[in-house]
Amino acid sequence: MPISPMDIYKLLPKTNCKKCGEMTCMSFAFKLLNKEKKLEDCKPLFEEKKYEKQKEKLIEILKPLEKAKETGLIVNEDLCNGCGNCVVACPVHVERDPHGAMIGKISSDDAILRIENGKVRVLNLEICRRYGKNRILCIVCRENCPTDAISFLEG
Ligand code: SF4
Ligand code: SF4
Ligand code: SF4
Repeated sequence: MPISPMDIYKLLPKTNCKKCGEMTCMSFAFKLLNKEKKLEDCKPLFEEKKYEKQKEKLIEILKPLEKAKETGLIVNEDLCNGCGNCVVACPVHVERDPHGAMIGKISSDDAILRIENGKVRVLNLEICRRYGKNRILCIVCRENCPTDAISFLEG
C-alpha cells in the first residue's frame, strides 16, 4: 500500500515546532517519504509520552521505507520472475536505447533496472524520473510488471 504524506502528517504532533529543522510538520512528512529526514528527527515524538501511540503507529507504517530506494521503489524479489518487462518498458531506457527496448534487450550500461540471475536489480537511480527535486511520479515499470513485484511508497 502506498503511503501518502498525509498518512504521516496525521500521526505527527502537528505543532509546527520546527525542532526537526522544518517549518511545518507537513514539510517534515514529505521529507520523511523522500528519505531526506528520519523519524527520530522529530524530537517531541520521542520525548513526550503523550505521542507514544502515534510514534508506534508511525514506526509501523514507515517500515517499507527501509527497503525502498531513494525513488520510493520497492522490489519484492520473491515475486519477481525476471521477465524483463519493466526494463524494456521504462521510458528512460526507451529514450536512451530505443533499439534495445524494441528487441527486448537493453544494452545501455547506465540503465535503472537490469535483470541479473533471474531477478531485477535496481542500478542508476539518479536517472529515474522519480529521482530528485523535479521528479515525476512515474509508474511505468510497476504497471508493466505481471506479478506485482514492483511497488512505490508514494503514488
Ligand atoms: S519536530 Fe515534529 S512536531 Fe516539530 S515541526 Fe518537526 S515534525 Fe512537527
Ligand atoms: S519509475 Fe519510471 S523512470 Fe523510474 S525505473 Fe520505473 S519506469 Fe523507469
Ligand atoms: S516486470 Fe516484474 S516480474 Fe518482470 S522483471 Fe520486472 S519486476 Fe520482475
